[in-house]
Amino acid sequence: MIYLDHAAATPVNEKVLKAMEPYFSIDFFNPSAAYLPAKKVAHDYEEAKGVIAHAIGAKASDLVITAGATEANNLAFTILIDGQMSHSAPRRSRLSPQGERANSRAAALRNAPSRDICSVLYLATEHDSVRRVAEQYGGTVIKVLPSGLIDLEDLRSKITDETQLISVSLANNELGTIQPMAEIAGIIREAKLDRMKRGIKTQLLLHSDASQALNLLDINVARLGIDLLTLNAAKVYGPKGVGALYVSHEARLKPLTYGGGQENGLRSGTENVPGVIGFSKAVELAKEHLNGNRKKYASWRKILLTELQGYELINKKHSLDNFVVLCYNGIDAERLVFLLEEKGVYVATGAACAASKGEKSHVLKAIGLTDEQIAGSLRITFGETNDEKQIHEAAKIINDVVKTECARITACS
Ligand code: PLP
Repeated sequence: MIYLDHAAATPVNEKVLKAMEPYFSIDFFNPSAAYLPAKKVAHDYEEAKGVIAHAIGAKASDLVITAGATEANNLAFTILIDGQMSHSAPRRSRLSPQGERANSRAAALRNAPSRDICSVLYLATEHDSVRRVAEQYGGTVIKVLPSGLIDLEDLRSKITDETQLISVSLANNELGTIQPMAEIAGIIREAKLDRMKRGIKTQLLLHSDASQALNLLDINVARLGIDLLTLNAAKVYGPKGVGALYVSHEARLKPLTYGGGQENGLRSGTENVPGVIGFSKAVELAKEHLNGNRKKYASWRKILLTELQGYELINKKHSLDNFVVLCYNGIDAERLVFLLEEKGVYVATGAACAASKGEKSHVLKAIGLTDEQIAGSLRITFGETNDEKQIHEAAKIINDVVKTECARITACS
C-alpha cells in the first residue's frame, strides 16, 4: 500500500502508542481522586498539556483539552454566546454595503431567542467544523483569492463594530494553503485600535484551526496574534478523538458540557489521560522532525510534479510541503481514486467528510475552479508512512491509471 492521504488521517506513531499504554491499565486512576497514585496521574496529565502548549508558545493552563478538533472549533465559537454583546456598541457611521448587511443580520440575531450574538467572519474555505458552527451564529464569509489565500481587502471591508470573532485556518485541509496570520492579526489590531479611540468595548478575537499545520509549521500564538487556536492529535500521528483549544486571557468562553468542572469548567468529563499523553508525545516527535520532514516533503513534491503527466497544478504556492493538489481535466477523479486503490495507491478527491457525503468541494469552488475542474481534482498528502521510492512508484502508477482512463474515455466518445 502507498498511503497518500495523511491529511485525512495519520497512523498512531509506535512511540506514541507506547507512551499511552501504561495509562490504560497501570496508571488508570481518575486524576481528580485524592490518593497518591491518582495525584501522579494528574501531574503527568498537566505535564503532557504543558508539552503541547509549549509547542505553540503557551502554558498548560491556556489549553482546554477536547475530544478532537471539531469540538475545539465549536468551543471557540462559544465566545459569541449570550452576555458578550450585552453592552451594545455604538454603530459605526460609515459602513460599506457589506458592513450594513452584517450589521442588520447582527441586529436580527440579537432578537433571536437563544444565541444573542453579533457578527462572526469566517473564511470561505474553512473546514465544515468551522463553517457549520459559523452558520449557526449567522456568520459572514470572507472571500479567498484564486491562490487560496485570504482576500485581505474583503476581510477589512467586512469587519464592523459588531464583529467579535474572525476564524481563519492556519493551513487549509484541502489545498494546504498557509494563511498570512500575522497580516490578518495586524488588520484586527488596527480595527481594535480604532474601536478603542471611539470608546467601543466590543471584543474582537482571532480564531485559527491549526489541525493540519502543527507538524509542519513553527507555530507561536503570540507571534501570530492568535487568540484561539485549535489543535488536533489525529493529524500528527497521535490518537483520534483528542484535540485542544488554546484560549488567550482575553477570550471568555462558555462551557460546551456541564458536569465535574474539568478543564477550567469549560469541558467537563473525566480527563482522557492516555489520549493527552499520546498527544504530547506526538507533538514532541513532530517538533523534533519538523524541519527534516518539511525538506523531505518538499523534495517529494518536486519529484511528483516532475514525473506526473497531463495534470494542472492547483496549489501552486503558499502550501504546506506535503500537499499536492492536481486536476486532470475531463477525467472523473472519483473513478481515479477507486482505480488507484485497486493498484494499492490511496489518495483523495478532497476532505474525507465531504467525499463520504458525495458533496462537491466548497474549497475548490471558492478558489474559482469550474465544475469540470473540481470533478477532476485529486489531493495527495505525504507523510511519515512514505519514502522516496514510494513517491516514484506512485507517480508511475498514477500516470498509468490516468493514461488508461483517458484512452477509455476517448474510446467511449
Ligand atoms: N479541522 C480541520 C482543518 C481538519 O482537517 C479536520 C479533520 O479532518 C477537523 C477540523 C476535524 O477534526 P476531528 O474530526 O478530529 O474533530
